[in-house]
Amino acid sequence: MSIPFWDEILALLSQVIDQNKFDTWFKPLVPIEYTDSHILILGVKNKFILDYINQNYKKTIISCSKQITSSINSVEFIILKEENKPDPTRTYIIEDHKEKSVQKFKNTINDQYTFDTFITGAGNEFAKSVSLAVAENPGKTKFNPLLIYGGVGLGKTHLLHAIGNYINFHSKNRIVNLISSEEFYFNFIEAIKNSNTKLFTERFQQLDILLVDDIQFLSGKERTQEEFFYIFNTMYQQHKQIVLSSDQPPHQIKGLHDRLVSRFQWGLCVDVQPPDMETRVAILKKKAERDNLSIPEDILYYIAENITSNIRKLEGIIIRILAFASLTKSDITMDLVKDILTDSVKKDQSKLSIDDIIQTVSTYYKIPEDSLREKNRSKEVAHCRQVAMYIAKSYTNYSLKTIGLNFGGRDHSTVIHAVQQVKRNVKNDKALEKDINYIISQIKS
Ligand code: ADP
Ligand code: MG
Repeated sequence: MSIPFWDEILALLSQVIDQNKFDTWFKPLVPIEYTDSHILILGVKNKFILDYINQNYKKTIISCSKQITSSINSVEFIILKEENKPDPTRTYIIEDHKEKSVQKFKNTINDQYTFDTFITGAGNEFAKSVSLAVAENPGKTKFNPLLIYGGVGLGKTHLLHAIGNYINFHSKNRIVNLISSEEFYFNFIEAIKNSNTKLFTERFQQLDILLVDDIQFLSGKERTQEEFFYIFNTMYQQHKQIVLSSDQPPHQIKGLHDRLVSRFQWGLCVDVQPPDMETRVAILKKKAERDNLSIPEDILYYIAENITSNIRKLEGIIIRILAFASLTKSDITMDLVKDILTDSVKKDQSKLSIDDIIQTVSTYYKIPEDSLREKNRSKEVAHCRQVAMYIAKSYTNYSLKTIGLNFGGRDHSTVIHAVQQVKRNVKNDKALEKDINYIISQIKS
């Protein structure tokens, strides 16, 4: 939920509390809020549970919470009320009702991202034409939902905005909204806190077109997925258009519920691929032109040759050249561009991905990557996997849940266990410490 360390606390609780009791009392707890005064608010189903936990487990919860985050002062419980909806798997809302008001969506569409400014090449042509078809006839094509997937910085968000802009311009009576999954998630949590999940859901009924960016963010967020599933179905049944983007094809998104995956595949999934050389040059030219920058042709080609995977990076280079040129009022030379490029490549590598970690660990220990990602239980593999999990936890911002999912769908308690184990071992085992430092240096280089 909105409390980033809740998973960790739960995992720790699962280690100190008997499995049955854990399933009965702790699993159903709903993290609601972590207040400014460092009080963790948890939701429970009814007064009976509230009293029981207060009497029997409050101290345990507080002490486990303190181990995860020492700043926590206390834990309090509130009663949630079951929402009056036919689907029994659906969510709960907090009891006392606050004043309701009609909420409108704010316009989140950026008018810079249009079809006109979108440059096509082999890698994105198809995605652009179906996006345009959908924008021309929202809800009426076979492409519902339309899902655009592909790597970072390849124009997915741009296309979603382009659809929004097109509809705003050509069909003014249609109501379109673009929301990132992250916003969807936070707004939903906010609605739970303010006891107005119903209003939250109803807001979507005003819409004719819903554009949802980066749905991979919903991964592992069960309640938000349920809510989204419900909204999706309602809109779909009314032939309203839904367009989604994600960084992978839906069936590969770990932690996304099967029923959502299958819904997403009802319409059309298209990918965007990295641009080829020609497209990269065209994009650079267009961006330079827009910024009134005159960059010699050979330099444009040099940039396009060196930045191959990502359009956002190409843009970033142009912006830095622009900044330099306007500050120093000097010419844009090849040497300058080379400097800028080296710098940006270095910066790029400071972010580690779990894939990089798995790859480097597997090379170092000469173990196939797949066995790290699977549930292989051999002792040797288990050790390497623990090291990889430890590095992932220590050197990335991924949650325990995401890390677990990347290592054969293990749950967060397994990850915590691995991290603690390696931490303990490193203290007494200099060779292990050296191994880990070496692996980290390899990932970063
Ligand atoms: P993604 O959502 O796939 O990570 P974005 O849509 O945010 O990528 O694109 C990153 C940047 O690159 C944006 O500023 C966008 O305008 C630009 N961009 C991406 N694809 C194109 C394209 N085909 N033509 C022009 N600009 C593009
Ligand atoms: Mg994006």
